[in-house]
Amino acid sequence: MQDPAEILSRFALVELGADLESLPPGARAALPQLKAALDVLHGLYIRQLDEALPADYARVMAGPAGTERDFYEFFLGPWNGLDGDVPVFAGARPRRPGAALYPADLSASALEAALAAASPAEREALEDHYTVVERREGKLHAVPYHVKYREELEALALHLRAAASAAAGDPACAGLAAYLEERAATLVSGDYRSADATWVRLRDTPLEFVIGPYEVYMDGLAGLKAAYEGMLFKVDSKAGADLRAVEEGLVELAAAFPLPLGSKPALGGLAPIVVVDLLYSAGEARQGVMAAAFNLPNDPWVRGNVGWKQVMIRNVMEAKFNMVGKPVAWEVLGKSQASFRAFFSFVLLHEVSHGLGPAFRADGTDLSRALGSFYTPVEEAKADTGALHLMLAKGGRAGIPAFGEAEILDSFVAGLFRSMRFGLGEAHGAANLIEFNWYLEHGVLSWDKSGHLRSNPTGLAAAAAGLLEELCRVEAGATTPEAEAFVRRWKNVSPELEAAIDRLSSIPTDIRPRFRL
Ligand SMILES: [Zn+2]
Repeated sequence: MQDPAEILSRFALVELGADLESLPPGARAALPQLKAALDVLHGLYIRQLDEALPADYARVMAGPAGTERDFYEFFLGPWNGLDGDVPVFAGARPRRPGAALYPADLSASALEAALAAASPAEREALEDHYTVVERREGKLHAVPYHVKYREELEALALHLRAAASAAAGDPACAGLAAYLEERAATLVSGDYRSADATWVRLRDTPLEFVIGPYEVYMDGLAGLKAAYEGMLFKVDSKAGADLRAVEEGLVELAAAFPLPLGSKPALGGLAPIVVVDLLYSAGEARQGVMAAAFNLPNDPWVRGNVGWKQVMIRNVMEAKFNMVGKPVAWEVLGKSQASFRAFFSFVLLHEVSHGLGPAFRADGTDLSRALGSFYTPVEEAKADTGALHLMLAKGGRAGIPAFGEAEILDSFVAGLFRSMRFGLGEAHGAANLIEFNWYLEHGVLSWDKSGHLRSNPTGLAAAAAGLLEELCRVEAGATTPEAEAFVRRWKNVSPELEAAIDRLSSIPTDIRPRFRL
């Protein structure tokens, strides 16, 4: 059996919060009710995971401090979510693939057979993201979340309405208060779409608040059912102002990207980005490895008709950088000028870069169709390389802070190795290897006799511009076999690289939070 203490030891404990004094009074007054709403939601998520878990979770949380409580606090149950959800405590039941969203004994093939036999309307209800599947008189039956979980949702809505009325008197919180009212109503009615649309449109708010059923990762049986999650953030308005400068300078930034072979850029340009500090989270968002950024909603109608928001969680990113990225850079490079400011700009410009450069080929084909499974590694490498190129070529202009080349390169290496530790097989791993090997071959990085990397930042600007050109050329014109050959050419893993990654084993993998709120 795995050792829970050993698993926890790979995560650095960090305290998360933000300065609340600078919030407008209405927002401050709403905080206790928003936190209470998230606590109700957290219980609801535990109930979604397993029928027997709420009692077990409450027992552990009320018990003595120690490994078991820490483990439950982080993984929300007795299962190791990093390793196929295996139970790590004696006597713990295995985690059900379908969680408590389907009958306990329902197999994936039985579900499929039932779906095939169902009427179109029944099938739609059974496949809905927001229904629980139950068996009644031998037949599968869909129960909407807002019916199944009515009691919790009504309690939650009371807190949201109390938060809305606490915020409503403050002109700085008018939009927030209206959104909270709408969210309360839609959680109880089960019609989430209008509140999601209002959330996307909500700008210039001192707090960001996300709550509802969103992602379907919990459903290991069919990947259909959404899990509840919630997050409360303080908005970083200074970063928001910098971002507006980036948006205003977008035409200049776009011109820094090659558009070879008559390829065309995306029309919409940039989805709105907000920078926030996490104050509290609940449900799936509080389980295991924390997201440092997300974009929501997933509803295709809202995305198509209203849009979506990209949210960058600054304090989570900073904690990850300090506890993992920075020590990784020191270990890999022997010395390092990596800084969080440069790393943050890099991550932000990575998101911006996804919207720049080729989006369609000269004949109108979209890139993911043209490149198949090689699109993601090439596009991720392009976003990273575009970010480096923008920092180097446009630093000090168009809202992009100016950094020294060594600071940029070392911060980039910190992120690259942090990411490569998670594995080199997936699309992101392939993207990382393309970049790493490119800079190695262009002399920007080199191995010394001790197995450390030497960085040579003077060659970085030319090498990054060259790689960006190469990646845009692949996107604009490569056939699938050519794209495959390109990825294969660059994705080799040398023994030096393997050894360097192995040496990082004593550095935490990630963080686990304690909230100040
Ligand atoms: Zn990306």
